[in-house]
Amino acid sequence: TAALKAVATRRVEDAYELGERLGEGAFATVVRGTDRVSREAVAIKVIRKEAFDDREMEFVVRETAIMKAISHPNIVAVRDVYESRSHLYLVLELLDGGELFDIVASAGHLSEQRASEVMRGVISGLSYLHGQGICHRDIKPENILATSKTWPLQVKLSDLGMAHSHLDDGDPGEGNTADGADDDTLSTMSSGRSVTRDGASTAMSAPVHSASATPQFSMPPASASAPSGVSAGTQQSAPGGVGHLIGTPGYVAPEVVRRLPGANAPPADLWSAGVVLYILLSGKMPFFGRDDAECLARTAAGDYAMPSREWRRVSPAAVSLVRGLLCVDPAKRLTAAAALQHPWLADPATLSASPL
Ligand code: ADP
Ligand code: MG
Repeated sequence: TAALKAVATRRVEDAYELGERLGEGAFATVVRGTDRVSREAVAIKVIRKEAFDDREMEFVVRETAIMKAISHPNIVAVRDVYESRSHLYLVLELLDGGELFDIVASAGHLSEQRASEVMRGVISGLSYLHGQGICHRDIKPENILATSKTWPLQVKLSDLGMAHSHLDDGDPGEGNTADGADDDTLSTMSSGRSVTRDGASTAMSAPVHSASATPQFSMPPASASAPSGVSAGTQQSAPGGVGHLIGTPGYVAPEVVRRLPGANAPPADLWSAGVVLYILLSGKMPFFGRDDAECLARTAAGDYAMPSREWRRVSPAAVSLVRGLLCVDPAKRLTAAAALQHPWLADPATLSASPL
């Protein structure tokens, strides 16, 4: 019918004015959009279809469906999806504050008050996703967006391009690892670098082994040791990544680096949240190295320090939450629900009211 045809051929340009660029990824550009009727501002993620083959496009569409189906105040909402011959358009809730990355980079580090507010948002979003059977798998300050540049602000998790629905792959979500996480004397951070961009970007829903994309990992394929029981319909790899490692060096969990069972399970997101918390409080990366391999080796060993230069002003409660999240054994790591119960998050009144 004419109505069906109208739906099938509706164009994003008919519904939205496309404006300035807000951000860029490996296969996607995010631009500002304005609803032609309501004048509401949105963000539109424009994904180049040519970057994907037919099967990969199925993954993109599947992930898009997941995003459309979920709704939480700490997850960027997908309002609508459009498609043209060459592009897919995700109409997203606009987050005008930009990336948490830039907020922290310009502030150096956050007060405990603000860090606690941000982490409550991040972990609430994770708690929701995990309750829906979804792991984000790429939690980092570039993928945490803010509602405004000025405080108080709210944060939302974005870029579910690597999200994985763990309910349909039978992943037990547990790994047995040597637990060596809590020894901060193992390394010094003499060369501790400030937060820097990793230079890699991830594409929305890009379950691809694409040699042309920006590599996030330079690790050999792990076909033999990849988590078993991962169904073909859900397995993804980092866009441009090699093998089955997913995520970003510096943020990925030890069980992901070591390809242990649990790489697709919720605890891996809590590790990354621990890295984010560490950065918010100190302005430094807990896991770093001259190259990705060194960074990943330190991650696998849980080898991080809390140098007194940055950490002596940090409260014991905040330090205890960092340690509970950066715990090498995923079975002993705090869950999202447990982290939300941690006094530093659950009881903001206990935080110092000092602005710094
Ligand atoms: P990719 O999958 O390519 O990494 P992202 O979804 O992370 O793409 O988006 C790339 C960048 O675009 C983000 O880092 C952010 O700067 C910007 N961006 C993404 N979504 C929004 C949004 N809803 N509102 C404002 N800016 C956004
Ligand atoms: Mg991204």
